[in-house]
Parts: sequence; C-alpha cells; structure tokens
Amino acid sequence: MNSVAQAQDLLERYGNLEGEALLSPLIRDVFPGRLCLVSSFGAEAALLLHMVSGIDSGLPVVFLDTQKLFPETLAYRDLLVERLGLSNIRTIYPDYTDTSRSDPDGTLWQSNPNACCTIRKVKPLQKALKGFDAWITGRKRYHGGMRTALPLIEASEGRVKINPLASWSAQDIKREFERRGLPAHPLRAQGYFSIGCLPCTAPPASEDDVRSGRWQGREKQECGIHLGDDGKFYKGSQ
Ligand code: SF4
Repeated sequence: MNSVAQAQDLLERYGNLEGEALLSPLIRDVFPGRLCLVSSFGAEAALLLHMVSGIDSGLPVVFLDTQKLFPETLAYRDLLVERLGLSNIRTIYPDYTDTSRSDPDGTLWQSNPNACCTIRKVKPLQKALKGFDAWITGRKRYHGGMRTALPLIEASEGRVKINPLASWSAQDIKREFERRGLPAHPLRAQGYFSIGCLPCTAPPASEDDVRSGRWQGREKQECGIHLGDDGKFYKGSQ
C-alpha cells in the first residue's frame, strides 16, 4: 500500500482518535520500529514528548540542531530528555559540506532564508527519516496560516505523517501542561511562543497569532520540512 492509501486507511480506522489514544496503536501495532517523532523542543513540545514517553520511551525522537538554535532550547532538550526518560534522542546537524560551501559566514538566513532552511533543516531531516515509514509532528491548526487545514493523518514524500494534536487549542495545551506538571520552555517567560532558530524568531505580536514571530517582515511562513516539492503543505489524503 502506498503512503497516500495508507494515510487514508489509517484515517478511516483511527480518525476519531487524537493525542495518546491515537499514538498508542500507531506506535505499538501499526508502525513498530518504523515510526519516529520529530521534535523542535519548542514551547509546546513537552506535551507530545510526555505522551510518547508514556507509550514507548525508546521511540526515536529526531531533533534538528540547525546550529542556529537558542541555547535555551538546547538546555530545554536536555532537561526534558532527563525528566521524561527519553532514551533514543537523535540529534542531527546540517552537513558540513553544505554549510561550508553555501553559508561559510553563517549569514545565509539573512540573504536567502529558504536556502538556509534547505541546508540546515530540510536536507538533514530527509536523511534522518530514511528507514522510517511514518513520523509524528506537533503541529496544530490553531497556529494559523498554512496550518489551518492540517489533517490528522496525511501522506507526504512517500511517508505517513501523524499530527495527533492537530485539533488542540492553546487552552487545551496549557491545561495539559499544568495537569502533567510539565516545565515551560525558558523563553516563554520572555514572551516567545513559536520558537525556532535564533535569528529568525521573535516574540509574536499577539498570542492569537503565535507564529507571527517567525521570519518577521518576510512572506515566509514555513521552513520547508512540511512542504512538498510543489510548495504545498501536504499531498495526498486529508
Ligand atoms: S529558520 Fe532561519 S536560521 Fe534557521 S534554518 Fe531557517 S533561515 Fe536558517
């Protein structure tokens, strides 16, 4: 079955579930050993990491260290890994050949952010996902922009993508953080919300538009790891 048909089939079987109720059968029964979580260790990441750790603390967690991240994010990663007992963190980096050739002085984000995201995010992730049939993301519809139409399960680039928190609101996330006693990302106290690379992240203008602090002053909304070759958000099933 190709990924588009598989995503459609999974939606029919599990489309009424979300959160841990959705993750549990997918991790244990549908994709054993063939599924990973890709986490930014950003402002809301602890919730999904906590859910996954309760089902399988050895599930591979891929973390893209673009070498442009906030030091606070790296410290938060270390804190969560220890607190949640995550035992299979895979920190991946850009290829040195790419950065030395295309971004020797580290300022490509300024002149060509799409090219910068390609070498620091898209290419390393494509490499890290080899061997996996499916991956889990923490995206939510309430983040707006292209994410408003986010499906629960989708097909992209030959893999199934699972978005178990797609329909969750900011209030849902906040409530679950408190109920589970999860620590906040250190930058939340400074007003940051959607937290990516340091040069391309600012606090949002309003908490009603949480991604407005990303690539401020540019049309760019997404780094590209969630876009297909056609520049669209997802392909296949919805
Ligand atoms: S978010 Fe900014 S610094 Fe990070 S990879 Fe993209 S353009 Fe480069």
